[in-house]
Amino acid sequence: RVVVGTKVDEHHQNYVRAYNMLTGIRFCVSRIHAKSDRELSDADFLAAQKYSFDITGNELTPSTKYDFKFKDYAPWVFRHIRTIFGIDPAEYLVSLTAKYILSELGSPGKSGSFFYFSRDYKYIIKTIHRGEQKFLRKILKEYYNHVRLNPNTLLSQFYGLHRVKLPYGKKVHFVIMNNLFPPHRDIHRTFDLKGSTIGRDFREEDLENNPRATLKDLNWLRRNLHLEFGPHKKEIFVTQMQRDVAMLQRLRIMDYSLLVGIHDLERGNEDNLRDKTLQVFQPGGDKLPDPANCPPGVNPGLARTPSKLETAQRARELRQTVKSQRPIPMAQTMDKMPDESSLVRKGFYFYADDGGFRATHEDNSPGDEIYYLGIIDCLTRYNYVKRAEHFWKGMGGHESQISPIPPDRYGDRFIKFISGITMSRERAEKEVLTSTLE
Ligand code: ATP
Ligand code: CA
Ligand code: CA
Repeated sequence: RVVVGTKVDEHHQNYVRAYNMLTGIRFCVSRIHAKSDRELSDADFLAAQKYSFDITGNELTPSTKYDFKFKDYAPWVFRHIRTIFGIDPAEYLVSLTAKYILSELGSPGKSGSFFYFSRDYKYIIKTIHRGEQKFLRKILKEYYNHVRLNPNTLLSQFYGLHRVKLPYGKKVHFVIMNNLFPPHRDIHRTFDLKGSTIGRDFREEDLENNPRATLKDLNWLRRNLHLEFGPHKKEIFVTQMQRDVAMLQRLRIMDYSLLVGIHDLERGNEDNLRDKTLQVFQPGGDKLPDPANCPPGVNPGLARTPSKLETAQRARELRQTVKSQRPIPMAQTMDKMPDESSLVRKGFYFYADDGGFRATHEDNSPGDEIYYLGIIDCLTRYNYVKRAEHFWKGMGGHESQISPIPPDRYGDRFIKFISGITMSRERAEKEVLTSTLE
């Protein structure tokens, strides 16, 4: 598994696709925000708008560097979802502007999906299969209603669903989501937890070559780790997880996991690359350290985080460009947008402690760790896994290695496991003590 991103520049094999993705997003987002807000109708959930971009430009679309087709799914719904999650449209556009080169995580999972980080590391673009695209559209209304009632949801926050196609190329669907991990803090350990033990072990020997690897359930248990939340935070965390999982169960979704990034406040940003790079980081300059050269343990996003000043400047530039761009009547909307930008999303419970959720002690006082967490990979329907299972069986795989369990049991097991590992340090020590005494 490739863990450190590679910069998608002109020489990268996926450069054109990435460039077109960003160009398409930018156009569609500007376009929908140019309109005054309105309530959603049922038709908005099914809506999809196709655009054709070419190097000469036309009535509707500006001229672009390459010819490509782009499809924007349910633009009104995603506009509303972005608002619920407090995404400022101008900042969103700045983060995803084609001028900024993305960084590609390659295909870290078995699914063949590609992951791209926006250059400021705030957003992740994940390519998804056609089936997942269809499924997301099918459940979009339920998802929307859920996030409306649960703005503090732990589920992946989907900000957009699009499709890009090169001439003679195949159609590539993708979603834009929140990056759970912060650009400004080292993540000392990452876990992907499902509540299962089968195949849930990362070979500890391989950690040496790949210190930033994502570990799994058995690695967690072996280390006797806990999500160290005192009673107050535990209650809120578990309640929200139960609500989120109940929705996933209702929609017959499975195979999702709790992604956990741990930042140890005592270790801090030990390979303090950030301060150095920020000093040499010239606003507007493009000489950024190559994330591929980041030493292990260093968040590659650090090197690419534009300063607050720079972000504000880019937002201003963007407003100017947008103003002069015809026929998009953006000027009015963009002028009203706040100039100041913050790197951390505020006001959302689980992301309120410097972008994460800080550990607490049994007396609810703050602890030594910040957890960056969320429920990811939640677009897999039970039926889909069943089919894959049959495929693997046909290929001679063992049932025990793959056997999917139905969504209800999957969810119950997930909740049981995660609740079971959620307790303050003091509580965990006590439990060990009593269990050794027995
Ligand atoms: P598979 O189906 O084989 O599990 P996938 O291609 O569907 O793989 P995911 O499970 O969604 O991929 O994610 C793979 C990895 O990418 C995660 O373990 C995590 O390291 C990283 N990742 C995914 N989503 C996020 C996110 N929102 N924020 C930060 N990292 C993420
Ligand atoms: Ca997964
Ligand atoms: Ca998946």
